[in-house]
Amino acid sequence: MATFLFDQIIFGPIKSRRLGVSLGVNLLPTDSKVCSFDCIYCECGWTPKNRAVKAILPPRAMVKLKLEEKLTEMLANNELPDVITFAGNGEPTLHPEFEGIIDDTIELRNQLTPSAKIAVLSNATMLQKPAVVRALLKIEDNIQKLDSAFEETIRKIDCPASNYNLKEVVSNLKSFNGKVIIQTLFVKGIFKDQIIDNTTELEVNEWLKLIGEIKPSQVMIYTIDRDTPATGLEKVKLETMKSIGDRVLAIGCAVQVSG
Ligand code: SF4
Repeated sequence: MATFLFDQIIFGPIKSRRLGVSLGVNLLPTDSKVCSFDCIYCECGWTPKNRAVKAILPPRAMVKLKLEEKLTEMLANNELPDVITFAGNGEPTLHPEFEGIIDDTIELRNQLTPSAKIAVLSNATMLQKPAVVRALLKIEDNIQKLDSAFEETIRKIDCPASNYNLKEVVSNLKSFNGKVIIQTLFVKGIFKDQIIDNTTELEVNEWLKLIGEIKPSQVMIYTIDRDTPATGLEKVKLETMKSIGDRVLAIGCAVQVSG
């Protein structure tokens, strides 16, 4: 199916379902995806395996220059963003200069668009790195993916690199002491002859237990909205999404539901 890549370092602004008017920052290559996951629903398509040539990530100085240019233009047009969002063609925290780039972004935000938040959409696989955690604690919206409480389900849906360890990821998420937003995509279907469904009673129950342990400031739940690389996936019904959202509220956690 038709997935797409962001062909620039700075993209948008776009109206995000979850974040408002969002100016995107892509710290990955503009012509291919780099990620420690290979989610079957990823809007950027499949993660390339066995690259012949090492992927080139944009250097810190280039990111700063491009972001400054775009924010200056937006300021002149009086159309500043609600949020500057690190997303793009893969996992932003894989960038070796991630912390420095966050520092530059905070500086530019404070100068040019002080009311905008800074958000990072991450898959929580680089939280063993102190520099990544330090950077994430400096921003307003530290959004980390957790699609299931079962490693087996995560392996089916998110297809992580082989060294993935859910227990460690959860422990790292807990160590944010609530300064984290958990983002979960619910999806059903069949892929490679296996049933995909993280909305079953068992799945939702165990996931809620982890949410209760992590104690995030908010949970964002959503389902597929655009084309996915895997065929055979289906959107979860809005009433199911709302019912999961109600259960998050019932354990005392704020929730945003996108159907
Ligand atoms: S973590 Fe995000 S970028 Fe990586 S494969 Fe999954 S959806 Fe795509």
